Amino acid sequence: SEFVKEEFSRGTLRIKTVEDILTPLKDCFMLPSSVVLDFSTMSEIMQCGYTRVPIYEEERSNIVEILYVKDLALVDPEDCTPMSTITKFYNHPLHYVFNDTKLDAMLEEFKKGNSHMAIVQKVNNEGEGDPFYEVLGLVTLEDVIEEIIKSE
Ligand code: ATP
Ligand code: ATP
Repeated sequence: SEFVKEEFSRGTLRIKTVEDILTPLKDCFMLPSSVVLDFSTMSEIMQCGYTRVPIYEEERSNIVEILYVKDLALVDPEDCTPMSTITKFYNHPLHYVFNDTKLDAMLEEFKKGNSHMAIVQKVNNEGEGDPFYEVLGLVTLEDVIEEIIKSE
């Protein structure tokens, strides 16, 4: 019945976490902040098909900025502008969530905020050393909506 379906769908959002639906870091299209916006890099960004591109320093786990592809509208590839010039100019905020965030809470966050992407991190205390934040991947509103549609 409709009632059962609706309860099931709500249940899924209450039980599943962002870790269950994220795009793993290894699969994320990202670029280093040291890259230069020449013709080749700009083509690569256009062809990746994503709207938002995390920018990292040294390691992929160290995301420092986020590039919106529309930020490139006024960039001339002939100028070979450093990526960091653009990301520092627009300075879009980064949003972090913990891996155990439930999808209903994530949906509320996305509704409230003006960003539809979050970086998923967890507290890693598996090793000998001090616990540290480990970046697992990205989650977007689209990922949550997909879960809702799947469960209907
Ligand atoms: P929009 O729909 O706002 O144009 P988009 O198509 O770039 O954005 P989303 O629709 O938010 O991205 O997400 C679609 C899927 O792509 C989701 O699974 C999301 O996790 C994934 N995704 C988003 N950005 C990236 C990226 N830079 N690298 C890899 N996967 C990404
Ligand atoms: P994205 O989120 O992928 O960057 P966007 O912000 O341009 O895209 P949407 O998030 O898809 O657009 O839509 C936001 C709202 O803006 C919706 O109500 C949509 O109907 C409206 N909208 C989208 N494009 C236009 C446009 N060219 N003119 C007026 N309204 C628009």
